[in-house]
Amino acid sequence: MRRKLAAGNWKMNGTRAALSEIAAMAEAAKGAAEVLICPPATLIAEAAGANTGVAIGGQDCHAEAKGAHTGDLSADMLKDAGASHVILGHSERREDHDEHDDHVRAKTRAAWEAGLVVVLCCGETLAEREAQNTLDIIGGQLAGSIPDGATGHNLVVAYEPIWAIGTGKVPTTDQIGEVHDFIRARLEKRFGEGVGRSVRLLYGGSVKPANATEIFAVSNVDGALVGGASLKAADFVPIIEALNASA
Ligand code: PEP
Repeated sequence: MRRKLAAGNWKMNGTRAALSEIAAMAEAAKGAAEVLICPPATLIAEAAGANTGVAIGGQDCHAEAKGAHTGDLSADMLKDAGASHVILGHSERREDHDEHDDHVRAKTRAAWEAGLVVVLCCGETLAEREAQNTLDIIGGQLAGSIPDGATGHNLVVAYEPIWAIGTGKVPTTDQIGEVHDFIRARLEKRFGEGVGRSVRLLYGGSVKPANATEIFAVSNVDGALVGGASLKAADFVPIIEALNASA
């Protein structure tokens, strides 16, 4: 049984005043689904120390354990601050920081070494979808970004079509299902049926309270990675509840 996961990516949003939003998610986090918030790194220690029952994660880590990398954070540092998860390979990192699959793969190894669960993002651009290259792109990202050694305990895969992130545009449920079934098949083929079936697959891209139930009913959707609608408990709690209801 894969435990459902509602994950929030706060990106570069939130100061300490926003910690009350995580506290306001605590009640909903007692349900069947696991709840994760990845706030800015400045908030990880305090958010984790509050012991709300909401898991806390980072949004990126460096592939090296330490050294001369000004401004970067190692996986160990995230873990030490109280993080249990880290998002890697988000399209904004791939675009803003020129991250490629080999970087994501090295970071994933480092995160696993530190004992973090990796939420690994993949997704196509609109041009790639229109050219009917979606599955090739996703297949390439999975092969290139995931190191050997994946398990259902150390890996979560988030399918995030880039054109759906922060745009209000959402793929049809058929389109989501096609990609999630494809990811499941690829994981089973590479890691074996047992492992492939145990890795949780999240959909991400403009998930809102209004569309969550429909998305959570799609085959092989085990939860969501949510950006904008995870910033406020008033938006995220109904999404968590929709996931709890689908569990
Ligand atoms: C994201 O950035 O991971 C994301 C899914 O954002 P949004 O929910 O705002 O589209």
